[in-house]
Amino acid sequence: MNAELQCRICCNDKGNKIHIAREMMFGLRDNFEYLECGQCGCVVIVSAPTDMSRYYPANYYSFGQISYKHHPLKIFLKKELVKYKVFKQKSLLGKILSYKYREPEDFYAWVEKTGLKFDAAILDVGCGSGQLLLKLRRFGFATVSGIDPFIKQDIHYEGGVSIRKMSLDEINDKYDLVIFSHSFEHMPNQKETLQKAYSLLRPGGCVLMRVPVAGTYAWKTYGVNWVQLDAPRHFFLHTVASMKLLASHVGFKRVDTVFDSWDFQFWGSEQYLQDIPLRDKRSYAESYDESLFTKEQIQSFRDKAIALNKQNDGDAASFFLFND
Ligand SMILES: [Zn+2]
Repeated sequence: MNAELQCRICCNDKGNKIHIAREMMFGLRDNFEYLECGQCGCVVIVSAPTDMSRYYPANYYSFGQISYKHHPLKIFLKKELVKYKVFKQKSLLGKILSYKYREPEDFYAWVEKTGLKFDAAILDVGCGSGQLLLKLRRFGFATVSGIDPFIKQDIHYEGGVSIRKMSLDEINDKYDLVIFSHSFEHMPNQKETLQKAYSLLRPGGCVLMRVPVAGTYAWKTYGVNWVQLDAPRHFFLHTVASMKLLASHVGFKRVDTVFDSWDFQFWGSEQYLQDIPLRDKRSYAESYDESLFTKEQIQSFRDKAIALNKQNDGDAASFFLFND
């Protein structure tokens, strides 16, 4: 049997389909084969380029330090807000703050789902400049750190947030929460990576996996023009089924899923249908004025994303993997 035609998650070799997708973030338009599994639905690159550097040019993402000012008073207030909104501790201050600070609800949902305490040890894998870690720090989570093998050098922020230039294999500390926020889909060894993350968890710990989700409306509608396929940088586009299967193989006992897709799935994919790369000057990602879309269209994409999330059919989700 041709191993290339076998699903790398569930090993199925029946009814699998090959799709040809193009590099469209930078408009290089190189072709890549992806295999869609007939059983678990996972969409996987057949063979990744040996040298990926062409696909991660210097302007891919900002890997440098971002500006962060550590304000203990603001952190105190945001902690009061988390206590009020998530831990349900009644207080007038919490109530007032809940009107002042309007964070997206998904942030509170994370804290609630993972059962995080303020002293929880949190590791963000593939965190880049550490945007998400700094957000957690602002909300009072003090023991947060990140790793990313692709940053230039270690980064140290005020308030004790450090990001180390290293890979997951080099980590041996224990954590209450290990986060992969849109990084796992870029990693070639899915099972080994998740196994390593599992081994770092304390009892009652959780892996939070934020990834694009295949098999959903955007994939069915746009196919290889689905913007989050992102060939060839995304190696694995999981479905809910393939993620659950992988998690159970590794030993996780329970998986909760919260869909959190946004308007990107529509405007990005509509642009690819019209052969407009993501970083093109006509792209909505670059400028609204030169883009294809009216304000009303963008608003309707946002509304549609919210509706799809409610139907568990958005193209991105947070998977919470629990070890007990
Ligand atoms: Zn499969």
